[in-house]
Amino acid sequence: MKNISILGSTGSIGVNTLRVVGKFPERLQVVALAAGRNIQRLSQQIKEFQPQVVSVADDDAASKLSRVLKKRTGKSIPEILVGESGMTRVATHPDVDMVVSAAVGVVGLVPTFEAVRCGKAIALANKEVLVAAGELIFEQLKRGKTSLLPVDSEHCAIHQCLRSGRSQEVRRLILTASGGPFRSASVAAMRKASVRQALAHPTWRMGDRITIDSATLMNKGLEVIEARWLFELGADEIDVLIHPQSTIHSMVEFIDGSIIAQLSATDMRQPIQYALTYPERLNTNVRYFDFGQSTAFDFEKPDRKKFRCLALAYEALKSGSAATCALNAADEVAVQAFLHGSIALTDIPIVIEKTLNRISVTRLKSIEHCGEIDARSRSIARAMI
Ligand code: NDP
Repeated sequence: MKNISILGSTGSIGVNTLRVVGKFPERLQVVALAAGRNIQRLSQQIKEFQPQVVSVADDDAASKLSRVLKKRTGKSIPEILVGESGMTRVATHPDVDMVVSAAVGVVGLVPTFEAVRCGKAIALANKEVLVAAGELIFEQLKRGKTSLLPVDSEHCAIHQCLRSGRSQEVRRLILTASGGPFRSASVAAMRKASVRQALAHPTWRMGDRITIDSATLMNKGLEVIEARWLFELGADEIDVLIHPQSTIHSMVEFIDGSIIAQLSATDMRQPIQYALTYPERLNTNVRYFDFGQSTAFDFEKPDRKKFRCLALAYEALKSGSAATCALNAADEVAVQAFLHGSIALTDIPIVIEKTLNRISVTRLKSIEHCGEIDARSRSIARAMI
């Protein structure tokens, strides 16, 4: 039996993770859950999966949860924790073997870092953790000899493709991107885009931040940075290719010219199950891919002038870990501002670039240093907005 905890259990990845857990009750068991403020969904999850410990964003959410749970009779109530320290206890619970890190943004950073320090295996969806502090996380991983498996479908695809060759035989990684809702739109149309249009992702249903990041291609930029740490390659060895059908989740080109691609239905339960059951492959509830229905495989190079966020991510990666930390923080602030109607979609890269210009390019020394750069970048971006 593998005991797991989930950070961000009420989100899109969290819910899909629990669907995978529900399919394998003889193999997977939930010990602890951390969520934010969606008490209704969390209380349903507690009822179904009976964790020992749960954590929520703040005291207000904890009181609501406690009230809801007390109305239920005949069931034991889990310990209720709060905030970053609560999420960290969920991540480091002594009974936990694997932590599914699926909160959104840097709220999951310290808990995931502490889980690595405690030797927990990690299934990582929360890409911001690696964008903000990939260098520190991997230093710690190497010291602790624990494992980190990607949940992001592109990195899961790369992980699978890499199983067909040795690391010194890899020429480049090719991360595929759907291109988002504005793939064929003009810059003028993007400038006028409404929140609703930007949230209308053509192939995936995800949380708001990642969906807006997909519309600007920042999501792909964050994935390039994530791939740099996961697979220990340079920025020049990681390419991005637009593939509107999102059928090929990513590819690896080897030095002999062979390209290995991974294909499957567009359903996040597939990569989540891979991470939870690796190295085994088990039967799935997800529909199998039907070549009869999907025969088109289109590709195009991304326009880095139109999608400036992608270019900024590459530049930050080359500048060093403080720059990627600042990039993520400024993007998180700018995306929220767009969602609240304060700025246009095309202002997002402007806010990020100006923030990066004001952060000194350096390497992160510690997780506290990462927190300082993150906070400073947020305050610069907020002031600018
Ligand atoms: P969602 O927005 O759907 O979910 C985010 C989760 O984080 C929710 O459980 C939310 O809680 C929780 N959360 C937010 N703020 C806090 C807080 N202050 N304290 C505690 N918990 C908090 O995001 P997704 O599931 O879409 O994405 C999660 C991560 O996975 C992101 O990093 C994303 O980039 C990555 N990812 C997502 C994919 C997807 O298909 N969705 C694909 C690949 C990667 P609550 O709702 O209760 O407030």
